[in-house]
Parts: sequence; C-alpha cells; structure tokens
Amino acid sequence: MEIKLFNTMERSVVPFQPIKPGFVGMYTCGPTVYNFAHIGNFRAYMFEDLLRRTLEYFGLQVKQVMNLTDVDDKTIRDSRKEGVPLRDFTAKYKQAFFDDLKTLAIQPASVYPAATDHIPQMIELIQILMDKGYAYQAEDKSIYFSIDKFPAYGKLARIDRENQRSGVRIKNDEYAKDSVADFALWKAWDENDGDVAWESPWGKGRPGWHIECSAMSMKYLGDAFDIHTGGVDNMFPHHEDEIAQSEAASGKKWVNYWLHCAHLMVDGEKMSKSLGNFYTLRDLLAKGWTGPEIRWVLLGAHYRKKLNFTFDALAQARETLNRFAEFFRRLKQCRAPGDGSECAEAVAAAVKAFDAAMADDLNVSEATAALFELQRAGNKLLESGTLSAAGAERILEAYCRFNRIFGCLPVDVSAELEIPAEVTALAEARVTARKAKNFAESDRLRDEIASLGYLIEDVPGGAYRIRKN
Ligand code: AMP
Ligand code: ZN
Repeated sequence: MEIKLFNTMERSVVPFQPIKPGFVGMYTCGPTVYNFAHIGNFRAYMFEDLLRRTLEYFGLQVKQVMNLTDVDDKTIRDSRKEGVPLRDFTAKYKQAFFDDLKTLAIQPASVYPAATDHIPQMIELIQILMDKGYAYQAEDKSIYFSIDKFPAYGKLARIDRENQRSGVRIKNDEYAKDSVADFALWKAWDENDGDVAWESPWGKGRPGWHIECSAMSMKYLGDAFDIHTGGVDNMFPHHEDEIAQSEAASGKKWVNYWLHCAHLMVDGEKMSKSLGNFYTLRDLLAKGWTGPEIRWVLLGAHYRKKLNFTFDALAQARETLNRFAEFFRRLKQCRAPGDGSECAEAVAAAVKAFDAAMADDLNVSEATAALFELQRAGNKLLESGTLSAAGAERILEAYCRFNRIFGCLPVDVSAELEIPAEVTALAEARVTARKAKNFAESDRLRDEIASLGYLIEDVPGGAYRIRKN
C-alpha cells in the first residue's frame, strides 16, 4: 500500500519513500522536562505515535529517536527557582513523562537521548560550523549562527528573506518569526545559569536549545534521514534553526519529510503552560478519566486540524469505548456454528477502508468510520442470530488489527469478565431444558440466574447472551 504524508516543506501530500527501502529513520522533538507535560503536548506525542504505528502497520521498520531537553532556558530557570540541582529537577519530570506515555499507550521510541549526555557532540558540531565560517563568537563570548551565510534559511517556515535584519542576534531559545535573527549555538555562562556550565573551546557555557536536536538526531540517525516531526509551533524558529545548523555542517539535505501536528485548543486558544489553560494527564486521571478515554479524544481529529478539548468529548469517548467493550464481549460469547462467511464481506470492506484511510496521511476520521461500520454490521448479525463463533472471531481479529494503530480499543475485554462459572452453568442447563421443551425448568433457571444478578437474553437460532442486571 502506498503511504502518503503531508510534507510541510512542500505544503502538500506526497508519496512517502524512505531512503532505505523498508526502513524509516524518524526524529521527534521530545519534551522539555521542566514540568508535567500537558495534554496539548501529548497531542503531539500521540500524533507521532500514530505515525509510527501506521508505518509499522504497513510493514516498515521504524527507528524513532525522541530527545529529552534537560538543559535550556526553562529547565535552568525553574530548577533554580526551586533550589534543586538541574539533574535532580529534570529526573523527576523525565520519569513522569515515561509514566504518562504508558498511560496513553504511546509506544516507546527506540532511544531517548538526553541533551546533557551529548554535550561533546554539540561542541563538535558547533566547531564544524565555526571552521566552515557559519558561526561566530560575539562580544559576550557566546557563539551564534550567521543566517546570512546560509541562503536557504527560512525555507521551511517560508520566511521572506528580504525583511531579515542582518547581523541582529537573539540569545533566547524561543522567539517569534518577526524577530528572525542570528541564533545562539553556545551560550556563554552568566550568573542566571548558576552552576549549570560545561567547558568548551569558547569558554564555559551551555548549548542553545536548537543545536541539541541537530547533534542528537545526527548521532542516532546519520546526517540524512527520513522524517522529522513536532508540533506546529516547533516549525519556527526551532526546526528552521535545526535545518540551518545541520545542512550547513554536512553540506547535504538533512531531512526528507517534515510533519507537524496542529494544536490542541481550549475555548479557541492553544492549550499552553504560558496561558495557564492546560490540563496535565494527571489532572484528568484524578478526575476519573482513563488513559484509553483520553487517547480516544486525542484521536478525534486529523493531526493537521486543530482539536478542541472538552469534557463532553471525554464523556462521549467513555460511551463509545463502553459500547465497543459490550460489542466485543458479545462477540466473545458467540457460540453458534458456521464457517464465518456471513461476515466476510463486512470484515474485508472495513479492513480495506481502514487501511486506505490510514495510508492517506493518517486519516483517522475515515478510519474511525470503518470501525463503526463494522460494529454496525456485527451488531446486526448478532441481533438476528446469524453470526457464527467463527464469524465473531473474524470480526474480533479485525479490531485487534485496527488496534495496532488505535491502541485504545478494549479488545482484551473478557467474555467471562463479569460472569461467574455458576451463572454460565445455569445458562447451559437452561439450554438443555429448552431443547427438551421443559419450559418450567427453563423459567426456573432464568429466575435463578436473575437472583444472582444476571439477565439472560435469547437470540434467534438457539443462542443466548448473558448480561449483568
Ligand atoms: P515543549 O515541551 O513546549 O517543547 O512542547 C513539546 C511538544 O508539544 C512540541 O512538539 C510542541 O509543539 C507540542 N505542543 C505544545 N503545546 C501544544 C498544543 N496545545 N497542542 C499540540 N501540541 C502542542
Ligand atoms: Zn527539536
């Protein structure tokens, strides 16, 4: 199946072709570990999980590298505020991040390099940029990248180079498009950095945020790889600066496909720490919502569309997943004979629609529609008593397949989950009684089952279904 992805560099959906057939190198800008990540951040990590799962679903082997930014302006600022050494401060949030990934069933990346473990690689890269004349040391001893030396600067964010202010410098890690400037590769130590500093050929200091990603991606994926991802706000200046550093150093095209996800919104505004309109995953778990429910909500819109977060959406997710659980339980309880051909067409159609949707730039809405369509067809067969155990198994297999990407469908729900053996035995005895036309006994058994808190429902064709009353 041909996979198509929206390449931000080209602003269009294009066929995806990895450099090495069958293998994908993918770099993901990971969290800045200065706080608990909020669910807006997790929208980005979810999208990357979805992308990776989809590539793997279609048979590609993916090496995903996700960095941990454990030294930058924000981590230093907040560790100093708390009076905790940087390493201890970030360790807490790294662990929290990994715990949260598990809650959301986000599959682990192949490697999580931390910036503070790669300072020598960053220094080496900056040295190359100095040697090639792309970088210079300013009066404050910091090293800056000269964007004038790199004519392609601005190609990702499509910045009008005419209006660039030549020779202006910016030391902050984060800045807006209207302050395009030479950016810091190495920041000379100042008193705000406290005891956070490394020795370098240019004096004591620390790396800028952007160089971290260039150095770590190239260490683990080489100087040319397939996919680089992030939230749309990473595009400028972070990704633009990464491209400049990496391509200036290697002289090669660095990344073939750039993918960015749109924001998670709250009341029309981007969910963000600075606006204070955020929920961490922990906030939602404390309110009683579950990982799968939150995952389902985050799967609720195409990754390039803004997604509005509401508690209503969480409530709907709960209902949807409960309905799936009930459906899967009924499928597992199905005992009727037959070869499963009654649902072959519906299953094949759902798989075909699902695969086509996901291969088309991760069209989750169409894929979800295929999930619902098969549920409708399955329920219809169950209601009419025409679904065989073999057919039910086929349907379940299809959902297990879909779940390789969706990751939150309750396919593991056990048929016997809430039904004790005693109740099942009474139900079987009732079938025997009915076959013998002993309806008094059959009714007595139904009452006995009811007294244990279960309802028995007959389905045409002699099958039955047990539910909790
Ligand atoms: P940060 O820790 O701020 O560097 O952000 C980590 C990731 O989350 C980046 O890829 C951001 O683009 C992304 N991100 C931040 N806020 C949101 C949001 N409201 N919706 C989607 N992604 C976001
Ligand atoms: Zn990055």
